[in-house]
Amino acid sequence: MKERIAVYPGSFDPITIGHLDIIKRSAKLFDKVIVVVMSNYRKAGSHAFSVEERVELVKKCTEGLDNVSVDSYMGLLAEYARQQGAVAVVKGLRAVSDFEDEFQQALINKKLNGEIETVFMAASSENMFLSSSVIKQVCMLGGDVTPFIPKEVSKEIIDKLMKG
Ligand code: ADP
Repeated sequence: MKERIAVYPGSFDPITIGHLDIIKRSAKLFDKVIVVVMSNYRKAGSHAFSVEERVELVKKCTEGLDNVSVDSYMGLLAEYARQQGAVAVVKGLRAVSDFEDEFQQALINKKLNGEIETVFMAASSENMFLSSSVIKQVCMLGGDVTPFIPKEVSKEIIDKLMKG
């Protein structure tokens, strides 16, 4: 049977334990998961980490997951998914606030690439409040963000954010 590949897109600026949770859960559902750092994803220009840095951080956190790979892409997600032969795009949903935007994106991606299904995964309750932007704000104001970021990369993330 054809390998079932899922793509998990985002800005991952930086990766949080919320992202990692979605990656690990998707890796159980699909034969292969490609985490893709979208370089043109939403708030371009306001990123704390370069695309290369974000890719490296995700790679470090997912080293032990055999069926997970990491990539970056600039362009249409629907096109990237087609190139990779993916059957699904995975999205994490935290609260109602994520819903409208994600639903719109899922519908447009379906129009652009009829082969692709968007699979929404509910955030784990302990990660419902977590976002990369909250981490950046808390860290820049001197708060301890270690509980919210993967331990493999916590030093790198904190060092960079503290430097501003
Ligand atoms: P953010 O919204 O934190 O800037 P991204 O744009 O990188 O994050 O999000 C990539 C994907 O991960 C999106 O589908 C988003 O809904 C999901 N996601 C982000 N944070 C969490 C979390 N804490 N729990 C579950 N899913 C999340």
